[in-house]
Amino acid sequence: MKIELETKSYTEKANLYQILNKEELSKNDIVYLLSLNDKPDTEILFQHADEVRKKFCGDDIHLRGIIEFSNFCEADCVYCGLRKSNATLERYRISIDEIITTAKKIYSAGIRTIVLQSGEDPHYTKDDITKIIEAIKQNCDVAITLSLGERTFEEYDEWKQAGADRYLLKHETANLKIYSSLHSKQKLEERLNHIRYLKSIGFQTGSGNIIGLPKQTIEDIADDILLCKELDCDMCSFSPFIPSPETPFRDIPPAELSLTLKTMAVARIVLKNVHIPATTALSTLSPEGRKLGLQVGANVIMPNFTPDEYKDKYRIYANKKTYDPINYVKELKELISSMGRRVAEDKGHSLKI
Ligand code: SF4
Repeated sequence: MKIELETKSYTEKANLYQILNKEELSKNDIVYLLSLNDKPDTEILFQHADEVRKKFCGDDIHLRGIIEFSNFCEADCVYCGLRKSNATLERYRISIDEIITTAKKIYSAGIRTIVLQSGEDPHYTKDDITKIIEAIKQNCDVAITLSLGERTFEEYDEWKQAGADRYLLKHETANLKIYSSLHSKQKLEERLNHIRYLKSIGFQTGSGNIIGLPKQTIEDIADDILLCKELDCDMCSFSPFIPSPETPFRDIPPAELSLTLKTMAVARIVLKNVHIPATTALSTLSPEGRKLGLQVGANVIMPNFTPDEYKDKYRIYANKKTYDPINYVKELKELISSMGRRVAEDKGHSLKI
C-alpha cells in the first residue's frame, strides 16, 4: 500500500514538472495546475511562477498611483457596489482641478504612472477627460492609464491623441452565460471588441477576470487566462470576488485565497511578459495578500491616492482597505526591499514594446 502511494505521488510530481517545463500550456494543463490541492505541489507551482516573473519582468515592482474620481456609474453590474441601482451609496465626483492636484501629489511621491478610474460616468465628457490628460502630461512626466469603463471609440481616439498611454477594461469572465447574468445591457463580445479596438489604436491594454463568481468553474478561469493571452494584453489583473452588502450578491462567499493565488501564478506562467498587480482586493482578502501576490508572479501594486473624503465611498466591495498613501508607499518600499526586490523608477510601460 505504501509503495503504491509513493508511486502515485511520484507520477503526480513527474506530471507537474512536465507541465511546468512546457513552453505552451494547453487548457487541460492549466486546469490541472489550478486544481492542485497538495501543499508541496502548490509551493512548486508558486516557486515556478516566481521564477518566470523574474525571467520576464526582473525584480522591479511598478507602483501605479490611482485616483478614483467618480463613483457614479451608468452600468448595473450585479456584483458591484457602485452599480446604478444601489441607492444607498453616497455618490461623489471630484472636480477636474482636484484630480490634477491629486495627480501632482502622486508624481511628487515618486510614482510614474497615474491611473484615472471611475464608474461609467458620462458626466465627464470627452473634452473633460482630454483636458485632464493634457494637464497631467504638462505638469508631470508620467504615464497615464485610463479605467473609465466602456466609452465610445471616438473618445478612445481622442484620449490616445491627448497622450493617454494605457486603458484597463476587464473582461471579468470569459463564460458568456455568467457574463450575461452579471450585466443587463453590456455584452461580452462588445467588451472584447472595445479591448481589441483600444489595442489597435496603440493603447497598452489591460484586462482580467474576477475569481469566485457564482457558477464559475476552474475551466472558466482557465478560459479567462487563455482569453488574456488571445487579447495580447499588456496588463492582466486576476482579482478575488468580495461581496458588497449593497448588491444582490451580498450573501455569496468571497473567493478563496488559495484559488486566487493559483490563478495569478498560472497566469504568470502562461502569459509570461505581462504586468500583473497584487490587487487591493487581494489585500482585503488577506492581510498578507500583497506580499503573497508578489511572491506568486505579481509585479505591480496600485496605491490609492483618492482624497480621504471620497475614498470610503468607492465601495465596489465591502471592507476595502484604506490608508494614508504616503505612509503606505513608505511601508511598501520597506516590504519590497525586504523581499529582495526593488521599486521601479521608470514609467513601467508594457514589457511587450
Ligand atoms: S464594475 Fe464598473 S461598470 Fe460595473 S457597476 Fe461597477 S463601476 Fe460600474
